[in-house]
Amino acid sequence: MVNSGTSIGMAAFGAIELGGTKSVCAVADRNGKILGKKIIATRSPNVTFSEISGFFHNAANGPLFGIGVASFGPVDISRDSSNYGTILNTPKVDWAGVSILSALSEFEAPVAIDTDVNGAALGEFMYGAGQEVPTLAYVTVGTGIGVGILRFGEPLSGFGHYEMGHIRPYHDKDIDPYPGCCPVHDDCLEGLASGPALKARWGAPLNVLENTEKAIAAIDLEADYLAGLANTIIMTHMPHRIIFGGGVMKTEGLFDALKRKTAGLLGGYLDANEVSGNLETYIVRPGLGDDAGVIGAIELARRITS
Ligand code: ZN
Repeated sequence: MVNSGTSIGMAAFGAIELGGTKSVCAVADRNGKILGKKIIATRSPNVTFSEISGFFHNAANGPLFGIGVASFGPVDISRDSSNYGTILNTPKVDWAGVSILSALSEFEAPVAIDTDVNGAALGEFMYGAGQEVPTLAYVTVGTGIGVGILRFGEPLSGFGHYEMGHIRPYHDKDIDPYPGCCPVHDDCLEGLASGPALKARWGAPLNVLENTEKAIAAIDLEADYLAGLANTIIMTHMPHRIIFGGGVMKTEGLFDALKRKTAGLLGGYLDANEVSGNLETYIVRPGLGDDAGVIGAIELARRITS
């Protein structure tokens, strides 16, 4: 069939941000322009991928040339691994061992898989708040806590992707008796400062507590934990910018407290323009809002097919 240049072959890329509670799927043209997007609840693997498949078939006006996936983890992202694209040992038990590659094999398209935070970092680096910085950290604070770090637009990793949500912060049990909710470590950072931890400790999500005294204490404690993370990222990676996204970061007052406390922890030790003053242009919100992950996934698809 001859491509007339109108609708046939317009759709080029499929993209999925696979999240712990919700997933975003999109179809984009060759230029990365989103042609259709759908947000679905992440349920069992079969139900979730069946919904994604249905969306791709409806929204794509032709075959998909490549699919990018920014996935919750842990997930094997080593392209030369026989387990590439497989969800590893996760608290979401029915997802452990699920192969994303197999689930998408019906499309017969190359599939690129990275973590949700590396995907979001990539989206922000290309089109959002991380443009033109040589190194960039993207932090999400929501159902879980994760960090992706890019150097010249490429994610850094070791034998696996980074798991900075599971670092062990100093936990003063006199100030914060909450034991933590990580199923593996109890009081790792994610166990103390993720959305589920906040809800369990304070009895409600931060945005529901609003301006109560409890909310003030909650924001102060949360900012302490997250400033500790920011300080660790800075001292170990010296990124030119840090983006903080995710649902918890939408809490009013948390962002300012985070910047203030991070500057306090740095204590003027670093003599660098990037981290001078009140960190106003250093710790920033995502420029792409909640679309950073799926836009990053489109870029993953573009890269694997170019
Ligand atoms: Zn943990």
